[in-house]
Amino acid sequence: MSDLPARRLLLVHAHPDDESINNGATMAKYTAEGAQVTLVTCTRGEEGEVIPPHLAHLAPDRDNALGPYREGELAEAMKQLGVIDHRFLGGPGRFHDSGMMGVEQNDRESAFWAADVDEAAALLVEVIREVRPQVLVTYDPNGGYGHPDHIQTHRVAMRAADLAAGPGFRTDLGEPWEIAKVYWNRVPRSVAVEGFARLRDALAEPGRLPFTKAAAVIDVPGVVDDWIVTTEIDGAAFAAAKAAAMRAHATQITVAEPFFELSNELAQPLFSTEYYELVRGGHEGGGRETDLFEGVEGVEGNVSAPEQNGAAL
Ligand SMILES: [Zn+2]
Repeated sequence: MSDLPARRLLLVHAHPDDESINNGATMAKYTAEGAQVTLVTCTRGEEGEVIPPHLAHLAPDRDNALGPYREGELAEAMKQLGVIDHRFLGGPGRFHDSGMMGVEQNDRESAFWAADVDEAAALLVEVIREVRPQVLVTYDPNGGYGHPDHIQTHRVAMRAADLAAGPGFRTDLGEPWEIAKVYWNRVPRSVAVEGFARLRDALAEPGRLPFTKAAAVIDVPGVVDDWIVTTEIDGAAFAAAKAAAMRAHATQITVAEPFFELSNELAQPLFSTEYYELVRGGHEGGGRETDLFEGVEGVEGNVSAPEQNGAAL
C-alpha cells in the first residue's frame, strides 16, 4: 500500500453528472496537485430526462439506452477533470436509477432505492479498503434535495465508512480502514442568493444567455445557512475544467458559463468555489477550512505543485 499517493479523496455520487456539478473544481484541483481522486457512482442515471432532441431516442420509454450512453459522458467528464479512477458501485448497471420520489421505478427490484443498504455498503467497503481515502465526500441525509438515489447514496456511503473501519467486518474485503474526515456537499445560502442575483441580471440582457428563466435558491441541492458550512475549496483555477466536465454530460446539462440549466429549463449559477460541511473528523480554529485534508496526519509535505501536474489537464 506504500505506493498510494499521500492524499486520497473518495467521492460517492448517485448519477453521472452529480460529481461535476457538485465537486468538479475540487476533483480537478486535487488531481492536479497529485492526490488520488476516486469517484464511485451508484447508478448510471437511466431515468434521466434527455435535453438534446437528437438524443431523445435514448430515453427509457424509447430505446432505453441512456445508461450506457451516460457511462460514456461520465468517462469524458473525468477526462476533463483529470480523474482516472472512476467506478460504478458493484459495476456498471448493478443498481438502476430509481427515478424521482414516488414514481413506480422506485420499487423495481434493481432500483438503487430498493437495495439493501448493508449489501450495497459492503461493495463500497471493498473500494474504501483498497484506496484508503482520508477524506470522503457525499450528500447530506436528504441527499441534497430529496431524490431517492441521492438519499440512498448518503445512507450507503455513511454506512460503508463505518463498516470499513470495523476490524471484524468482512475481512475478505481487505484490511480495516478508518476514514479521517467525512464531508457533505453544501452551498451557503448567501452564495446562492448572490449567484441568482447575477443570473437575473444576465437574463435581463437580451441575447446574453441561451436561457429564459431562472430557478430559485430552494432548487439548489444542499443550500444551508452560511454558518453550517465549514469548508470552502477555491476552484477558480479549475472553473474551465469544471464547465467542460459539466458540458460532457450533454444529455443532462446545458452550460453557458458561469450558469447552467438542467432538463427543467431553469437556469442556475455555476459555482467554481465549492462548499462542504465537515461532519466527521476534527477542524481546529475558527473560520472555514480551505483544504479537505486540513489536519489529516501524514499528508503534509507530500503535495506536488499544481503547475507540475496541471499541464496534464
Ligand atoms: Zn443525481
